[in-house]
Amino acid sequence: MALKVYINGTLYDKDDAKISVYDHGLLYGDGVFEGIRSYGGKVFRLQEPLDRLWDSAKALWLEIPTSKPQMARNIQRMLETNGIEDGYVRVLVTRGCGTLGLDPNRCTDPQVIIIADTVSLYPKELYEKGLAIITVSTVRSHPAALSPRIKSLNYLNNILAKIEGLQAGCIEALMLNHKGEVAECTGDNIFLVRRGRILTPPNEAGILEGITRDAVMTLAREAGYDMRETPLTKHDVYIADECFLTGTAAEVVPVVKVDSRTIGDGTPGPVTGELMQRFHELTRS
Ligand code: PMP
Repeated sequence: MALKVYINGTLYDKDDAKISVYDHGLLYGDGVFEGIRSYGGKVFRLQEPLDRLWDSAKALWLEIPTSKPQMARNIQRMLETNGIEDGYVRVLVTRGCGTLGLDPNRCTDPQVIIIADTVSLYPKELYEKGLAIITVSTVRSHPAALSPRIKSLNYLNNILAKIEGLQAGCIEALMLNHKGEVAECTGDNIFLVRRGRILTPPNEAGILEGITRDAVMTLAREAGYDMRETPLTKHDVYIADECFLTGTAAEVVPVVKVDSRTIGDGTPGPVTGELMQRFHELTRS
């Protein structure tokens, strides 16, 4: 049976799920999205991505033509319709069809799209051996230009960084902000461990406020760690004992090399391992 995709209340077969070429989501990347995980057929922390979706839309002056409870029901329905247990739901809201000009006021029909599919994680061995990443020259968007807190359909800043990473043979890349501080990776937040303390850049560093980041910070504090949000530099990364990334699709993934430099002893560290385990228990119990 073909996967069903939700567009504004109607379910379409995957191949027939299309939107107009006049949609400003396509013409200008004018819209917002979310990625949500499901474990055992149930969505993980639905309220947070929904809140972030509504906040992102508000920042773009885009009114989502449905309510959060209705969206929640539709997301659950799409998981059930497609028989997805452990999967990934992509929710998009586009500005809708307009003229070829930028003016969002001329767009009248925002499109709400829900795609429930399987999840594509990093290869399993990377969770055991750890990732090698590099710092790229593409600077994370200046928050006063396009705030990284908005999860918008325009991901070009991250894509440019991803291309740089891929061309250097790395599947994830570290982006610095306009001040030269560590911001985040192209689709994941970053954490360091140094002398038993866990560190991650604050929101002011110009990052997406990751939902996995938030869950991992809570887990770290519950486990008794000194968990701090603090500005970090490349120097902090190079001298860290451990490094790991967090994201909805990736969950918690160890990093063992940054810019060809070995982090710690070059294997995933004990704190990372503990948090990976705790996150696994949180999502699967
Ligand atoms: N930063 C960026 C730029 C992202 O795209 C993502 C993934 N959506 C994250 C961080 C991780 O956020 P989350 O844990 O909410 O998936």
